Amino acid sequence: LPFGNTKQVGVTILVSDATASLPSVQHTAWMLVNLLGRFQGVVHRLSVRCPAGVKLCGRVVPLATRDVDLATALIDGGNAIGVVPIEKDLQLERTIAIGTGPFATAADLFVLGDGWCGGISVTPESFDTLDLHSSLPFGPYVAACIAAAEVFKAARMRPGHFISPTSAFYSCWNHVASDAPISGGPSDVEVVLDASLVGIGAVGSSVVHAIWASPNIAGSMVLIDNDPKGLETTNLNRYPLFGTASVGQQKATAAARVASDAKVRWIPHDAAIESFDLVTLRVVSAVDRNSARAAIQFKYPARLFSGSTLDLRAEVLRCGPPGVGACLRCFNEPEKIAPDDVLRSKLKGANESEIAELARTAEITIDQATEWIATGRCGIAGDRLLPLLRRDDGEDAFAVAFVSVMAGTMLASELVKDHLADAAPLSESQPRVTFQFFSPLARSNQASAFRRDPNCPMCDPNSAACRIWAKRYQSVSKSKT
Ligand SMILES: [Zn+2]
Repeated sequence: LPFGNTKQVGVTILVSDATASLPSVQHTAWMLVNLLGRFQGVVHRLSVRCPAGVKLCGRVVPLATRDVDLATALIDGGNAIGVVPIEKDLQLERTIAIGTGPFATAADLFVLGDGWCGGISVTPESFDTLDLHSSLPFGPYVAACIAAAEVFKAARMRPGHFISPTSAFYSCWNHVASDAPISGGPSDVEVVLDASLVGIGAVGSSVVHAIWASPNIAGSMVLIDNDPKGLETTNLNRYPLFGTASVGQQKATAAARVASDAKVRWIPHDAAIESFDLVTLRVVSAVDRNSARAAIQFKYPARLFSGSTLDLRAEVLRCGPPGVGACLRCFNEPEKIAPDDVLRSKLKGANESEIAELARTAEITIDQATEWIATGRCGIAGDRLLPLLRRDDGEDAFAVAFVSVMAGTMLASELVKDHLADAAPLSESQPRVTFQFFSPLARSNQASAFRRDPNCPMCDPNSAACRIWAKRYQSVSKSKT
């Protein structure tokens, strides 16, 4: 629907009295508050009904102080986002219940995840077969994403243009969608990371969030992001780790600060990937430009995972095996960088007020801008204007938070699974998964084969670079067994 025709909705999130103390319920509740609390223009108001005095079970709400009870953390954390107002104990148009019953009031949707699997249902009985023993955040975050998508679809899409199943579950252990909970995967994992994460945007900050909330993921993770503008207010509707307090800060440093009490040690770098020797065993790509993907692939790390989003679809790729499965550069033609004089000649048609605005943003005088447009001379004007002009070249695609969190959650779970000898795909034969929210039970929501791009210049099996990559790749396989 056109944005002006959005059927905005107020949502009450109802947390079960009986099960509010469980990690599964707490992780699900927070991620749903976190996602709906960023839904500018879709959710006009959010309310939390949660029993008082329930102790937080570990790291659940990064945006609240750690020593408050669950109800306070959900409301304080939600309000720290600063997008949708969140109040206590109001009854709004829609009620979404989290946990298992009995519930104080009726609800139109039930949401819960545990371990690696999570989902939604219109009846609470659907969750009877879901084990509630795990402290992992993956299944709970999947559940919250599927629920947030249903709120989005009802508000923004024409009836009949999407499918709202009466129940839908997804497991990021075996990448299966079903109308009932899916078992599989250990209820806890102890992993010592030696990894890097490139791109601390919507997907990357979701990865940090999931790793932070996992009780036994230790080791170290390098965080890399070179966006000179840092976190902007307009990012808050999609970046699940950040609230207004982080606006203006560099993203890698801000993520390390918000998640500083994780078991893993963060090593933030607010600089470009090109300036690093990526020496970690595993690298996670959460960048959104193909030129950045090529720069990461150029380092040929032993293991490489990539997450991306497109409209209502999340995608995760485990790169390799080298020369057989796709690399990060495969099918990802780097964006062409427009030459300086092309950008200049585009500006020759601009009017006075457009040039004045551009000069103000670049912090140069109008005379300097005009001189540079006319002649290409004036070094300072060129240095300041060119990055601005190139930035506006690649318009941000349509994106919503639940798709980014789904991609980030699947990425984090694949990074963990790659340490486990008996893990289900993603694997060499099924290295790629896509999940689209239009129809959560679609058969295409699963892991599948993905061969390399025969025209890719970076993973040609006969190249020296690919042979080096293969050697590094195989060294990880051996240490796994
Ligand atoms: Zn390739």
